Amino acid sequence: MRVLLLTGGLDSTALAWMLRPELALFVDYGQLPAKGEERAARAVADAVGIELQIRRVDMAQFGHGSMSPTGLPVSTSSRAPEFWPYRNQMLVTLAAMALAASPLTEIVIGTVAGDDAHPDGTLDFVNALDRLIRLQAGVHVVAPAIGLSTLDLVRESAVPRSVLGWTFSCHTGEWACGSCRGCNKHRQVIECLAADEGAVP
Ligand SMILES: [Zn+2]
Repeated sequence: MRVLLLTGGLDSTALAWMLRPELALFVDYGQLPAKGEERAARAVADAVGIELQIRRVDMAQFGHGSMSPTGLPVSTSSRAPEFWPYRNQMLVTLAAMALAASPLTEIVIGTVAGDDAHPDGTLDFVNALDRLIRLQAGVHVVAPAIGLSTLDLVRESAVPRSVLGWTFSCHTGEWACGSCRGCNKHRQVIECLAADEGAVP
């Protein structure tokens, strides 16, 4: 079976629609937008028709960057303000732990082209993480959209607007702030899709 790490954002939502994994997993790890992400993930899983499991673990005290309540300065290893060092490997490990008793074969993550602005959004990182997780139980870590931009992924997935409407990408809180990098990217993608359809966004 495959599990998709579903955040309720555009990338993981498009993958949910395209791949229809047996299971989606949302992790509330203490990120500022957790409530908004969880609401979106629940709605997306329901709209796509896949099972969603939710786990909570408080990593707030270990956070950095704009998604973290600590307000600690962003690590120098990335210029992106939302970068939370070591988070992605933590989330993949938590997914593997949560499903260690299940017949899990793949953990699917929503890394896309452009995420390599973060050191844990590169192909090298995904390959290293795949090898690390595979060493323990043969479970693969895959990022099927790593060669695609978010816009190309959403177009290729053909995820309907009625499902995209549930997505949530803000980095800073429960409700979309409209001005963070997550909100800006979300708006740009929706505007491009509207232009595809010849409609006014
Ligand atoms: Zn925002």
